[in-house]
Amino acid sequence: MAIVLIGLGVTGLLAALVLAGGSEPPSPGLRGAARAPVPDESPCPRGRPPAPGADRVDENRTFALLRDQVELGPRPAGSEASRRLAEALRRLLPNGELEEIDARGPDGRPLRNVIGAVRGRDPIKLVVVGAHYDTKDLPGFVGANDGAGGTAAVVSLARSIRPGQLAPTVVFVLFDGEEAPADPLREDIERYGLRGSRAAARDYAARGAAAMILLDFVADRNLSIPREANSTPALWEELRAAAARVGVGCAFPAATRPAITDDHVPFLKAGVPAIDLIDFTYLCWHRRCDDLSAVSRRSLDASSEAVYELLARL
Ligand SMILES: [Zn+2]
Repeated sequence: MAIVLIGLGVTGLLAALVLAGGSEPPSPGLRGAARAPVPDESPCPRGRPPAPGADRVDENRTFALLRDQVELGPRPAGSEASRRLAEALRRLLPNGELEEIDARGPDGRPLRNVIGAVRGRDPIKLVVVGAHYDTKDLPGFVGANDGAGGTAAVVSLARSIRPGQLAPTVVFVLFDGEEAPADPLREDIERYGLRGSRAAARDYAARGAAAMILLDFVADRNLSIPREANSTPALWEELRAAAARVGVGCAFPAATRPAITDDHVPFLKAGVPAIDLIDFTYLCWHRRCDDLSAVSRRSLDASSEAVYELLARL
């Protein structure tokens, strides 16, 4: 996920850094605060979502998709591991295609979004479901929650929906180049991150997309996803209602947290209602501890079932 927080005062910024477990790089004055223990509270009992009351997305498949990505190791945009992953994701997505975008990796080759689609009953309505598949370019960083989790959920959702089953046509987009390079001169998220989503937002806004749903941090063990302040309130309320219907409402509490510049923002700017599922009280954000020990099959399933239910009502 991208790292810009909008509209925070100093106090809010410090709180965000503490919640996030550190800035990049943390300024020396903030290091102590960044390491302070922070309660990563979730309203769910013991922080764990209950087993969903719906089973339309195979939780074992979804978690295997997460694990397979982590086992590839670091997958920064333009790396060999990332390019191999993109090919694998293309084969997994229904009607999967690779789409080159107007940004290049370190080797000079274009970055690529991976796009799939499942046709709906409504001839006009189109909804985009997205996640980023690149990982932050930090040594040893495997992005179990930040990269693999959202990507796994998107692919598993795509494979759970049959053509004509839902009203909207659902386009599944796995974004390349979400993370700004580690180069400190290119930390500007608006400019150097969100590269895949800027390209996709242009395309799907032009096609009249009715909504965009972004899955970013959706797999951490202690799951709590309040509304991120950029996210379109009405669509967010539909998600909360969907989560409640499948029995995981506690993971989507009625609260709003500071705005985050993430892959939903280019869609919002293009006029498409959009929401970002991101549990930003995630202590392993952009740290090597964002590995398999930090995520859970239950959390990933709860997020996936909630989004399926939302899609079924759009
Ligand atoms: Zn990230």
